Amino acid sequence: MTDHAQYTPEEQQRIRASIVAGDAPACPRCDVTLTTRPIGGGSFGLGYARRREWLICPQCKRSAIFDVKRGTRN
Ligand SMILES: [Zn+2]
Repeated sequence: MTDHAQYTPEEQQRIRASIVAGDAPACPRCDVTLTTRPIGGGSFGLGYARRREWLICPQCKRSAIFDVKRGTRN
């Protein structure tokens, strides 16, 4: 767990586009569905209508954190 590989900004944008579109985000490198972990839920003082999601690729272990606007469905 010492290797912290990161997505490039371009890759992050692509993942984000999937989230915004309501699709299951996939790793641009591995083409596998990313594991989603919700972060927060009020305990970090995020008082606005957003939530954070931590997306992790189960294959290459790259991860990214996104602020996601609260969608229309849960
Ligand atoms: Zn990957």
